[in-house]
Amino acid sequence: MTVPEYSPLDENEDWPTHGEYEYTRFYHTKAREFSEHLPPSFDYIVIGAGPIGAALAFKLALDHPTQQILIVEQNWDEPDRIVGELMQPAGCQALELLGLGRVFSGIGAVPVHGYYIAYGGKQLYVPYPLKPNGKPFRGVSFHHGRLVMNLRAACKSLSNITCLEASAVELIRDSGESVRGVCVAMRDNQKVQKKVTARVTFVCDGISSQFRKVLNPEPVDLISHFCGLVLEHEPVATADYFTGPAGATHLRADPLTQKENPLPMPHNGHVLLDGVGPVLLYQMSERETRILADIPGPSLPSDGTQLRALVRDSLARAAPKHLYPVLHSRLMDAVDGAQRLRCIGSKFIPATANRIPGALWIGDALNVRHPLTGGGMTIGMWDVVHLCQQIAKEDRSPRALSRATAQWQWDRRSRALVVNTLSVALHALFAAADSPDMCLLREACFNYLSRGSFYTMHPSGFLSGLFPSPLLLLFHFFSVALLAVAMRLGDTNAGFLPMRCFSAGRTLWVAACVILPFMWRELRP
Ligand SMILES: Cc1cc2nc3c(=O)[nH]c(=O)nc-3n(C[C@H](O)[C@H](O)[C@H](O)COP(=O)(O)OP(=O)(O)OC[C@H]3O[C@@H](n4cnc5c(N)ncnc54)[C@H](O)[C@@H]3O)c2cc1C
Repeated sequence: MTVPEYSPLDENEDWPTHGEYEYTRFYHTKAREFSEHLPPSFDYIVIGAGPIGAALAFKLALDHPTQQILIVEQNWDEPDRIVGELMQPAGCQALELLGLGRVFSGIGAVPVHGYYIAYGGKQLYVPYPLKPNGKPFRGVSFHHGRLVMNLRAACKSLSNITCLEASAVELIRDSGESVRGVCVAMRDNQKVQKKVTARVTFVCDGISSQFRKVLNPEPVDLISHFCGLVLEHEPVATADYFTGPAGATHLRADPLTQKENPLPMPHNGHVLLDGVGPVLLYQMSERETRILADIPGPSLPSDGTQLRALVRDSLARAAPKHLYPVLHSRLMDAVDGAQRLRCIGSKFIPATANRIPGALWIGDALNVRHPLTGGGMTIGMWDVVHLCQQIAKEDRSPRALSRATAQWQWDRRSRALVVNTLSVALHALFAAADSPDMCLLREACFNYLSRGSFYTMHPSGFLSGLFPSPLLLLFHFFSVALLAVAMRLGDTNAGFLPMRCFSAGRTLWVAACVILPFMWRELRP
């Protein structure tokens, strides 16, 4: 079987990136253009052209063709980051609803059919749920920067969007604390500043948002770090994986050559649980696989050599040589050959009610979850869908806008709660090293998912963002906890029965402490 040279997602050639931008008004490095020609007032301002800001500006411009939108982005070059490389199926659905369904074209993206999970020498497969027509849902993985450039190109193709390369330095507020717009500074000369006003300013400046503290001054906790590497390889030598494996136990034999894609299930996410923390592997293209090794705890070793040794140890434990000979040696080569390790902190920031008139926080500027489950852009894109639906209905009065905001917060809540809580709860279980209760819960979770499709169907729906039901999440989480209790009670090596009853009760308590506080924090706004 010959290997296709292109990805099946690469078919559309008419995305705006392929031609000149017809409409864009792009203000950047020339100080005169900046201070004299940039209009002082717009209908909407969007701060940040990351995935969420760009999608929001695009949809606002489509829905309101007579209104003017300004996007302020500090750097319009292709971002080079180790974040946001896998879109869950619900995120793809949201992009369709936003008119951006073809955004994955031309960027070498690959389809994702589900997750392969390995723990203690055993493996299981969690496929994405089926659509009502019987076909499976599909996610997509890609280079983050390329996706962002496609989203930005979509914005540049609309006549009522103005793109500005500048840093937003301050929100302009009136005496009643309402936001009236933003003060922007030229990228290369921060002394050249200009005030731009708008009816609504959308703050989409991401996880390190400098404006989040206006809305939510609470300090942010670091849960862990992801250290990222790239594994280069040849595409798989069989076409099976281009349509997705047929069943939960369908595994690929070892790759035929050392250079071939070494993943046990190409075109799927991989979570290996035996490392220092969970190790994630997913393809960014047919020829590159992202490796993300989680290092639990708020800090990393300050010494680069120690950090490299820690990541190496984690990868070696996660893909042991006797089980994954080719993958093991490729991972070791990747970590030894990497010039530098790129690491990024993982945080949990529950959403806060948007109560500041004239401004709305959205995307990572509002709400952040652990990246383990790859749900950030999915939640952000659905936030854009719900918000634009509400804005389309309001009549431009301040009262209507605050009603629309309140309704939006209600609409977004259940999906955000499920995806965000799942991410932090799973990370707590998967990264636990010392706590016997957590280790038991992790084993119970793995055993639960191994029981077959009834047990994986809903969890896979939570992961993919397709089943936004908090009650179902609680049901499955406590089913796992009860399985852990049964395992503890049945373990005759764990002491006498009263002792086992006591520790089973403690495991149940630990399980409740893992999930309920996070759920509560997400429910509050
Ligand atoms: C390690 C890691 C892996 C992840 N993996 C995934 C994944 O696989 N799938 C997934 O869905 N999510 C993932 N996420 C989460 C995802 O990256 C975020 O949810 C997503 O990038 C949020 O998009 P955003 O537009 O809100 O913010 P960002 O992507 O951070 O974009 C913010 C934009 O604002 C600009 N900006 C910032 N400050 C200013 C300013 N003052 N003035 C002007 N412009 C400004 C920035 O230049 C940037 O372009 C991951 C996160 C991490 C940490």
